[in-house]
Amino acid sequence: MHIGIVGLGLIGASLALDWRQGGHRITGVSRSATTIAIAGERGVIDRGGTEVSLLATCDVVVLCVPLDRLVPVAAAVCPHLQPDAILTDVGSVKAPLIQAIIPLWPGFIGGHPMAGTAEQGIQAAQSQLFRQRPYVLTPTAQTQPQQLAQLQTLVGELGAQVLLCDPHAHDRAVAWISHLPIWVSAALLGAVAQEPDPAIATLAQQLASSGWRDTTRVGGGNPELGVCLAHYNREHLLRGLYQYRQELNQVITMIEQQDMAALTAYLQASQQARTQLDDRNFTQG
Ligand code: NAP
Repeated sequence: MHIGIVGLGLIGASLALDWRQGGHRITGVSRSATTIAIAGERGVIDRGGTEVSLLATCDVVVLCVPLDRLVPVAAAVCPHLQPDAILTDVGSVKAPLIQAIIPLWPGFIGGHPMAGTAEQGIQAAQSQLFRQRPYVLTPTAQTQPQQLAQLQTLVGELGAQVLLCDPHAHDRAVAWISHLPIWVSAALLGAVAQEPDPAIATLAQQLASSGWRDTTRVGGGNPELGVCLAHYNREHLLRGLYQYRQELNQVITMIEQQDMAALTAYLQASQQARTQLDDRNFTQG
């Protein structure tokens, strides 16, 4: 297949690497000529440039630009596509973006690979990033079954686990397991930064080990992406944050009251919930 990738950053270039290695022809379009040159040198694309007209002969086009660029980029790309081209994206929020893109391209199929790293840009791209990771597709009533089947096959070739779901259900679910943790982790970093004694702050950093590394990792990711998630998935993220605040208040009360039985029950429940999660490698995305 001839696949067009728009936005050759972490996700776009990683998809391009795997599909090209799988024998597909890749046309890359990105904002910067430097990125295109690097993509050529790294063997990410067969050809590329900054002009969306390059996508005219693509069978499938994947929009891999930041969330706040998806709709304007879709508007620029659509007039150049073949009528039967498959158009999809990788954005981390689905419902509001699908609603805006469907009038531009009725067959648009939303997508979201649940994989990533804390890095960004083409230099961070890696092959096999999506292997054994969930990759969500969110078809709508306008989706053509044949196009959905073709896209499922392509995603399957990445070694990813394809999941189909409703865009709203996707946004509600990822608010819990992806977007809420970013802000919880960032707030944790913010709280610890309030230590007034510089000697204690330095000692804490010297003593920090794997627990601190694990709980702060997602708070230290790409700020642009975190802010976009708060903007586009505001309602579901706020619901999660309100519930989290309630949980914190409950914990504070139990500790203030030295209610060791309640604290034990609370941590036993969380321990059980954690062990019920299966043992696969968890993803960032
Ligand atoms: P990224 O590494 O910053 O890459 C985004 C790329 O988009 C940049 O390399 C930039 O290209 C290009 N770009 C920006 N504006 C453009 C425009 N107007 N036209 C063409 N190209 C443009 O970001 P990313 O992490 O790959 O994220 C991309 C998308 O993937 C986002 O929608 C995000 O929600 C989604 N996603 C991210 C993750 C994650 O963990 N990072 C996981 C799953 C999904 P230049 O280098 O040419 O400027």
